[in-house]
Amino acid sequence: MNILIVGAGFSGAVIGRELAEAGHKVDIIDSREHIAGNCYTERDKKTNVMVHSYGPHIFHTDNEEVWNYVNAHTEFMPYTNRVKSTSKGSVYSLPINLHTINQFFNKTMNPEEAEKFIIEEQADTSITEPLTFEDQAMRFVGKDLYEAFFEGYTKKQWGCEPSELPASILKRLPVRFNYNDNYFFHKYQGMPVEGYTPIVLSILDHENITVTLNQDFSQDLAEHYDHVFFSGPLDGYFNYQLGRLGYRTLDFERIDYEGDYQGCAVMNYGDLEVPYTRIAEHKHFTPWEQHEKSVCFKEFSRSCGENDIPYYPIRLVKEKEMLAKYIKLAEASQKVTFVGRLGTYRYLDMDVTIAEALSTAREFLKDISTGNNPKSFYVEVL
Ligand code: UDP
Repeated sequence: MNILIVGAGFSGAVIGRELAEAGHKVDIIDSREHIAGNCYTERDKKTNVMVHSYGPHIFHTDNEEVWNYVNAHTEFMPYTNRVKSTSKGSVYSLPINLHTINQFFNKTMNPEEAEKFIIEEQADTSITEPLTFEDQAMRFVGKDLYEAFFEGYTKKQWGCEPSELPASILKRLPVRFNYNDNYFFHKYQGMPVEGYTPIVLSILDHENITVTLNQDFSQDLAEHYDHVFFSGPLDGYFNYQLGRLGYRTLDFERIDYEGDYQGCAVMNYGDLEVPYTRIAEHKHFTPWEQHEKSVCFKEFSRSCGENDIPYYPIRLVKEKEMLAKYIKLAEASQKVTFVGRLGTYRYLDMDVTIAEALSTAREFLKDISTGNNPKSFYVEVL
């Protein structure tokens, strides 16, 4: 088959590779001038620091197949994401752990005492089924910690009330009653030695794959192919005919510094009065490298306009209603499968993106070999 893949990020590259290995001819296009989508990394010219151009990406997964897959394409170094948060004039450890709790409440509790204290004196245990972000926080850490670390940050990040957001967003973060300050709870965690771009480059390196950059998608182009995998925005594929699905976009403000600017890779800012959500000092993502000069980026979140880069899908009630209509359009379309963060309008981590791309490619291959029509989606989207 002749396959067109729109988007040279992880979704497009992994699907392309699986199909190329099965003997299909794969053309991948991307409207940007580089591969790797929002995972793109490059060395900063001024400092030689590896910069994550679209914000920090730390690889973490429980999926052994995915971990082996990325390690087969590049060398990883062990890296543990440890995040700090500045709130009302003090610096704390995130995710909320025993150090955060003891420092915040000026106590010296042990794990059992801290858990008892949070449950009995802080948490709102009347909330039995937390549905919203706010409920989830009030239920598990209570008002004081919620206000210091989550309320302001989340309002800045999402531009809405935390009571409007789903609990799933906060469930990304653990709460611990010990001193483990690892931001993630996954079995595998690491950082690619030369960044993410070489992983995608290696995945794309197959004789049946061609890649064309600076190339927009058009229906005319699609007509030359037997099937299209579309990892661009779902609403964009349909020319936004039902309206635009809402995204948050990010603006980055560069800080150049001689030495060590903040002493850690990621410093979050919980206070609403501080206009940015976090500052990332990229040289700390490669602790095995030595750099005198430093480059940091302040991250500002805002509503995504027509010419901005979409980052986080908002998925509130309004967006989900529109999404349901786009899903109907997609399901009525022939010869196209929607994939990835933008194609399925979901908040996806890299490991999930890769796992889904692998299973999508495999199911597609099974469908065509058994004479079934390929599906518009191989994952649950709503
Ligand atoms: N969050 C927060 N305070 C923090 C860090 C995170 O309130 O200091 C909330 C915020 O709503 C964010 C969500 O938790 O969108 C998930 O955080 P994560 O660090 O996973 O976000 P990402 O790195 O994907 O932007």
